[in-house]
Amino acid sequence: MISTALIYHEDYEKHDTGNQIYSFREDSRMHVGFEFENAFRIRYIREMLEKTGLLHHMSEFLPTPAKDIDLLRVHSQTHIDRLRDLCQRGNRVLGHDAFGCPSSESIARLAAGGAMLGVEQVLREGPIKQAYALIRPPGHHAGIEQAMGFCLYNNVAIAARYAREVFGIERVAIVDWDVHHGNGTQEIFYGDPHVLFISMHEASYYPLNAGHMTELGRDSGEGYNINIPLPPATGEEGYRMAIEELVLPILEQYRPQLLLVSAGQDSNGLDPLSRMMMMRPGFRYMAKAFRELANRICDGRLVLFQEGGYSLPYLPIATLGVMEGLMNCEVDFHDPHVIPPRPIVGELVDAITQCKQTFSPYWKI
Ligand SMILES: [Zn+2]
Repeated sequence: MISTALIYHEDYEKHDTGNQIYSFREDSRMHVGFEFENAFRIRYIREMLEKTGLLHHMSEFLPTPAKDIDLLRVHSQTHIDRLRDLCQRGNRVLGHDAFGCPSSESIARLAAGGAMLGVEQVLREGPIKQAYALIRPPGHHAGIEQAMGFCLYNNVAIAARYAREVFGIERVAIVDWDVHHGNGTQEIFYGDPHVLFISMHEASYYPLNAGHMTELGRDSGEGYNINIPLPPATGEEGYRMAIEELVLPILEQYRPQLLLVSAGQDSNGLDPLSRMMMMRPGFRYMAKAFRELANRICDGRLVLFQEGGYSLPYLPIATLGVMEGLMNCEVDFHDPHVIPPRPIVGELVDAITQCKQTFSPYWKI
């Protein structure tokens, strides 16, 4: 099995996003449940790694909180101050669709610190070339000035700038396979050619009116922001087509020295917040594809960061698939939710063709 670092801290479970009202029952009473982004998500993933024995083959590292200087490489002082003040005052709403508790700002710093530790592990000399940061709150919707969509600080962006400014890495690539558009990450690097951002996401979904393929970056960053909107029910074969025909060729040409992945497994077939029908073999394929690419182009240096994934029964299974692809193994665990592969639909072929036309002034595809 391939040596892999796991970044985790038990305090990640203390970020309390509260309850939400999600339906009215026939008797007109409100039905109240946990917010989608809750502590069980990463607890169950970790338990899955433990019970399948994979955890014993990983090296675990304990993060420390990011400092102001680390956050300020991405966020404004205003955002940091506002978030801290809202938490200190006990406010539960920290931004649009972003919730928390009094300790959330410090736990978000710990998540950013976890992201940085992942980068540190793969960039320093040693046997470990790849890492999975099992962190929360997630980060890819958080922009320079705002919390949003369960995200407070943008972990992957903080990690990318850390790699650039502290380790002197010239070219970083971020692949975002979370089912929602990584709008925060896009905003942060929109004019920056040193960080290539590629987002594959369900088209016209969240945030609304974002993640169009024509959003290509600005100034010297033009051509370095790639959005690949995919139709509902894309499935494994569709993701494979998008990755092989678009994502891998662009990454091969960019030749990053470090590859980062915003790993939101919320494209899974049981997720309440998507309709993409990705199952464990699909996640296994994606992780394997990017591991092999990292081996070809950047000495295997690859860090994955936990973003979304909201099906409590399936998120651990989907993430098990990711770990199998990453570590080059298949563990003895029966997935009770196997579905047959879905055919590639015409709508997807059209989307890929349109992407190729849009990106061809910048990349040979
Ligand atoms: Zn998501």
